[in-house]
Amino acid sequence: MRQKIVAGNWKMNKTLEEALTLTAELKGMVAAEVKGSVRIILCAPFPYLVPVRNLLGQDSGILVAAQNCSEHEAGAYTGEVSAAMLKSIGMPYVILGHSERRQYFGEDGKVLAKKIDAALKHGITPIFCCGEPLEVRENNGHEALVKKQVEEGLFHLDNASLEKVVIAYEPVWAIGTGKTASSQQAQDMHSVIRKHLASKYGQGTADGIPILYGGSVNAANAKELFACPDVDGGLVGGASLKSREFTEIIKSMVDV
Ligand code: PEP
Repeated sequence: MRQKIVAGNWKMNKTLEEALTLTAELKGMVAAEVKGSVRIILCAPFPYLVPVRNLLGQDSGILVAAQNCSEHEAGAYTGEVSAAMLKSIGMPYVILGHSERRQYFGEDGKVLAKKIDAALKHGITPIFCCGEPLEVRENNGHEALVKKQVEEGLFHLDNASLEKVVIAYEPVWAIGTGKTASSQQAQDMHSVIRKHLASKYGQGTADGIPILYGGSVNAANAKELFACPDVDGGLVGGASLKSREFTEIIKSMVDV
């Protein structure tokens, strides 16, 4: 059975005090029975990773992760944070290739492949994001583009390395817009991604890779999206900033 995952992407939001308040609320709200069945991850801004993790403690059942890392190992890269640094503070996951990184910071397939390697080298699981802009979907190019993104970012890996990766399908037109993909659109693309993985890595490997859906997931639509056979959880932006709503989303994953 694939790991069920609900990850919150806080992006560049909240002061430290606000972040700690949200963390404390979530720690109190996430019930014991949820913790074992769904992996819950909070992707916090770099300065909050250690304080948030320390507040959660060992037994909260909630993990903390980074939103990005450098493709470089170390050196004169002012402002960057390396995978080795994230490893040294115990980060188990890192988001890579989020559409905002692709769009605003020019991250392309080549750079992302290097970032994937950097994370894996340090034993950090990448949450690799892919997804098409609206005009590409309107021109029916979405499947080809997402397959290309997956190829560019991941297809240089061998089976053992790929098995350590989590994929998040996030249609760009659904991120932060309040417009969610229908469960059929999500399932169709997740199935395309899984079949594409199977074509290179075999069905057994493809069947083990968690593929999360992201794009305006909220408490009202999570259950239907998470019920799709190839949707193994969610990467949640805006709704992860509200403890009650995020807890509802996590609960939606428990029941499927
Ligand atoms: C995201 O940041 O990955 C995301 C999906 O954002 P939102 O849920 O706000 O659309």
